[in-house]
Amino acid sequence: MHRSIATVSLSGTLRQKLEAVAAAGFDGIELFEADFINFKGTAKELRGIVADLGLSIDLYQPFRDFEGMPEAQFRRSLERAERKFDLMEAMGAPMVLCCSNTSPLCVDDPALAAAQLHELAERAARRNLRVGFEALAWGRHTSLYGQAWNIVKQADHAHLGLILDSFHTLSLKDDPAGIADIPGERIFFLQMADAPLLAMDVLQWARHHRSFPGQGDFDVVGFFTQVLRAGYTGPLSLEIFNDIFRETPNRRTAVDAMRSLLYLESEARQRLAAVQPQQRVELFNPPPVAALSGLSFIEFAADDASAITLDTLVRQLGFRRIGKHRSKAVTLYRQGEINFIVNAQPDSFARGRFEAHGTSVCALGVRCADPLAAVERATAMRSKRHDSPVGPNELRVPAVVAPGGNLIHFVAESLGANGLYEADFVLEDGVLTADNDAGLQQIDHVALGLALDQLDTWVLFTRAVLGLEPGESLELADPFGLIRSRGVANAERSVRLVLNVSLSQRTRTARTLSVTGGGAVHHIALRCDDIFETAAKLRANGTRFVPISNNYYDDLATRIDLAPELLERMRAAGVLFDRSPAGDYLHIYTESFEGGLFFEVAQRVGSYDAYGALNAPARMASQAQD
Ligand code: MG
Ligand code: MG
Repeated sequence: MHRSIATVSLSGTLRQKLEAVAAAGFDGIELFEADFINFKGTAKELRGIVADLGLSIDLYQPFRDFEGMPEAQFRRSLERAERKFDLMEAMGAPMVLCCSNTSPLCVDDPALAAAQLHELAERAARRNLRVGFEALAWGRHTSLYGQAWNIVKQADHAHLGLILDSFHTLSLKDDPAGIADIPGERIFFLQMADAPLLAMDVLQWARHHRSFPGQGDFDVVGFFTQVLRAGYTGPLSLEIFNDIFRETPNRRTAVDAMRSLLYLESEARQRLAAVQPQQRVELFNPPPVAALSGLSFIEFAADDASAITLDTLVRQLGFRRIGKHRSKAVTLYRQGEINFIVNAQPDSFARGRFEAHGTSVCALGVRCADPLAAVERATAMRSKRHDSPVGPNELRVPAVVAPGGNLIHFVAESLGANGLYEADFVLEDGVLTADNDAGLQQIDHVALGLALDQLDTWVLFTRAVLGLEPGESLELADPFGLIRSRGVANAERSVRLVLNVSLSQRTRTARTLSVTGGGAVHHIALRCDDIFETAAKLRANGTRFVPISNNYYDDLATRIDLAPELLERMRAAGVLFDRSPAGDYLHIYTESFEGGLFFEVAQRVGSYDAYGALNAPARMASQAQD
C-alpha cells in the first residue's frame, strides 16, 4: 500500500519531520496546516523539498467548520477554501480533509450539509483537487462514519469522498462492520490510530493519547480489514496526536510508525486470507513471527571490579560457575535452566547506551526453533540485526538490536536448554559440583525500566518483532511518584517481560534511568518450586532480601482468606503474596546492588498469569526506608 503519515505525529521542524519520514521509508505525508504556516518557505519550495525526498503530499488538513452553516458563513468559507486550494495547487497536494463541523452555528440538516459540500467539491473539481469528508467523534451533528457517508452519498459529486479515521469510530464504540458495504472508490483516505482505553473526554483523548497501531487497545486490525473489504486501495496513513511523540526524537518515532503499518498490514493480511484470498491491494507479507520457547540466558556487562562483586552475588543466589569463554573475558554461571553470562570485555558496555561503570544487562537470549527466521522477521519489521565478532570454534548466535541498544539473541531450541554453551565455553568440571544450588529453575520474567517515551516503542517492538502480547497496564505507587507497568508475554507464557515506566522524575526507577541513559533491565525474576525452601537456602548463602513491614501481613490477612500457618510462614520469610482466580503468586525481592539492579524469586501456583504488581509498592516503600 501507499504508506503515509501526518506531520503532526512527529517532533521537530517541518524539514526534520520530512527527512525522518523519508528515511523510514514512507511514500507520502499528510501536511498539517500548522506545520506549513510556520514553515520558512513558499508552498512551491515545499513541493521541491518533498519531491527531492521521494515523498508526496497526499493530504492537506484540516479544513474546519464548513458544512451545515448559515448562508453568510458558508460564502465566507468558500472564499477561505479557494485560498487553501491556491496553496494546495502550489505545493502539489491533491486532496483536502474537511472534518465535520463543531461550530455552535452548524445546523442539523444533512441535506444542507450535502449541498454545501457539493459546492465545495465543485470548486475543487475546477482545479482537479478532491475533498474528503471526515466525521469527528466530537462533531456537532456528524460524529459517525455512517452519518458522514450519508452526506457524501447525498452530495453525489465525484470529487467528494469519505475519509475514515479508526480513532473516531473505535473511541465511540461504533461498529466498523458497515464500512465493508461502502464502495471502496468512494473512500478517499484512511487514517489509522490506536489508543489506550481511557475513560475521559473524547476530544482530550484524541488530542493527547493516540498511539500507533499495535501500541494501544483498539481492534485496529478489525477496523482495517473492513476498509480493505470495501475495496479501498488508497493511502494507508497515520494521524497520531500524542504528547510524548511530540517530544520524542523524530527518527525513532518514524521507525515506530513504519513498523506499526507493517504490523497492521501483515496482521490484516492474515485475518483476511481466510475470507477473501484475492487481495485488491498488496499488503506487507513478512516471515511469520518466531514462536519463542523460553528465556535462554541473560548477559551482564561488567567492568573488572563489578565482575568480582557480581561473582559473589550470583553464587550467593545459588549459581555455579560453569566455565570461561574460549577467547573472551566472559564467565558463564548456571542454575537449573538459567544461564547468566558475565561479560567483562572492555567493549561490553559499548553495545548499549550504558555508562561504563557498575553492572547492567546488555543482552537477553531467547530460545526458538529457527533463529535465522526470527532475525529475518525482525529485520522485516525494521529492527537492526547485530553481528558479534565470532572467534574460532564459537557458535554464531543471531541477534537483533532492541530499542535502546540492548541485544536480543535467538538461540536454537535444538541445542537444548543448556546446549549453546558447550561450544563457546571451556567448562570447569571442578566447580560444577559445588553445592550451593537454591532450587531456582527458570527465568520467570525480566523487568525493564524505561524512559517514558520508550514504553510505546517497546510494546510495538515486542509485539511485532517477538510476537509477545501486552497485558493490562497498571499504575503502581512508589513513595515518590507513580510507576506504569505493563507485562508482555508469549502465548505459552515461557517468555515474559515487564515494561516499567516512571511517571515521576523522583522514583527509584527514574533515578536508575538517569544513570543508564534510559532503558535498562530493572530486575530479574527467577522461578522456583518452593519459595520457602529456596528463600531459606538463599539466606543461608548470604543473599539479603528487602524487609517487608509487619503491617503488610496484617493487611494481607484482611484481604485474602489464607491459612494462618501460611500467613505466618510468609511473615517469617518476608514472602509477598498475590492471588487471582487462576492461581497464586509468592515472591520475594533481593536488595539491589550497584546500578540499582535486583533479583526477584517467584513461585507460581496454578495458572497465575501476572507479576505480583500489587506488591511492588511494598517493595518500593521498603527500599525507600532503607
Ligand atoms: Mg483524522
Ligand atoms: Mg517482577
